[in-house]
Amino acid sequence: MSEVMSEEILENPRDDILETAKRIIRLGPICDSCLGRQFAMLATGLTNAERGRSLKTVLAMQASADGDSSTLEDLAPSFRSARLKLGRRDEPDARCTVCLGEMSIEVLDKWAEKSAAALAGWEYSTLLVGTKMSGLLAENEELLLADGGSRHAEPFKSELNREVGKRLTQLTGKEFDLRNPDMVVHLNLENGEAELQVASLFIRGRYRKLVRGIPQTRWPCRECRGRGCPRCNYTGRMYQESVDEIIRPAVIQAAEAEDTVFHGAGREDIDARMLGRGRPFIVEAVRPRKRTIDLLKLHEEINRQAEGKVEVIDLALADSSMVERLKEAAFIKTYSALIRLGADVAEEKLKSGLRRLVGQVDQRTPTRVSHRRADKLRLRKVYSTDLIEVKGNLARINVKGESGLYIKELISGDGGRTQPNLAEILRVDAIVEELDVIDVGGESDGTSSRNAEEV
Ligand SMILES: [Zn+2]
Ligand SMILES: [Zn+2]
Repeated sequence: MSEVMSEEILENPRDDILETAKRIIRLGPICDSCLGRQFAMLATGLTNAERGRSLKTVLAMQASADGDSSTLEDLAPSFRSARLKLGRRDEPDARCTVCLGEMSIEVLDKWAEKSAAALAGWEYSTLLVGTKMSGLLAENEELLLADGGSRHAEPFKSELNREVGKRLTQLTGKEFDLRNPDMVVHLNLENGEAELQVASLFIRGRYRKLVRGIPQTRWPCRECRGRGCPRCNYTGRMYQESVDEIIRPAVIQAAEAEDTVFHGAGREDIDARMLGRGRPFIVEAVRPRKRTIDLLKLHEEINRQAEGKVEVIDLALADSSMVERLKEAAFIKTYSALIRLGADVAEEKLKSGLRRLVGQVDQRTPTRVSHRRADKLRLRKVYSTDLIEVKGNLARINVKGESGLYIKELISGDGGRTQPNLAEILRVDAIVEELDVIDVGGESDGTSSRNAEEV
């Protein structure tokens, strides 16, 4: 025996497996699984029931050899061999005082059948089993750990998950996946139900918003917060439709989902269109019954239902990790703006004015959003500006800028809160009359604030 080991044994004189097992058995009737679970970390390749049975067997043999009838008495309620030795042939096994019978073969089988029944009718390829403990069982487990004193136990949950899981993979033929299962079956020990947790289905794509006046996502009424009031005409919302809600019905139908959640890579203003190649988005189908989606058909169906207001392109399946990336991505955007000037400005002067906007811009939170956003100074980049057309005091320009750049304020100056700005450079009033996003392009260098609302 090595020095380290002998020291350990001196420090922990009570760590004798058979002594510990005897102490546990003295606490009350205990099934093979619950006894074996107290030593789960010690011998691999065995079930806890096998570990428990082995311990009971050795304890009974030792007690017989020693003529130790008190240990045989302790073993008897939950070990038939000890009962035979004591002449108690006709007595059945007592109920386990730890799991209250949950670890019996019949109950484990019943849990697996219940789980399989809950999973029927859902399309999925991977699953996982979890356990919601009841207060009573959690307390039993704690008491056993405290009074039994084994240092090698595994949690009750782990064994139940594993044992039901084994049976469930047999019943369903599906694979286990610890990280990203389509389905998690929660065995609720409090109410006896097998409850399903269904992973969302994620579909990515790009959307074009072809009309003005539609927000990107559902917008609950500010007055009533969605309950319905005179202001919102009892609809509960500020706008009657949104890109989100236009896309939603076809996705719900295709995935047989309960709801959808819309994730956009930033958003344009309600009065701005989203043109060009469109804006990247991910739509999350919540609790989908179907996971095999005909994306071409979905694409056609969304566009048909959108009636020319919205169009989606490049639909593909995505996964949950892409949502985070999409939200964090800071895209470079190109805008087309129709601007109205306070006076006619010569084309050359306008062009040189626009050139002076390129570079770094300081923007305080715009007045128009200051009621819902903290007043902050942001530094944003303007990559390029182009004059497309000028007619009298109306000009159409393109601006390519960093994610989070406010275009309306870049033109008007917002009372000097954006510097530089076109109005100040030209020394005439300048306002954006119409704004469209015409490209959401490659990622910028990441210095901008995340997930900002642009334009
Ligand atoms: Zn038990
Ligand atoms: Zn309302």
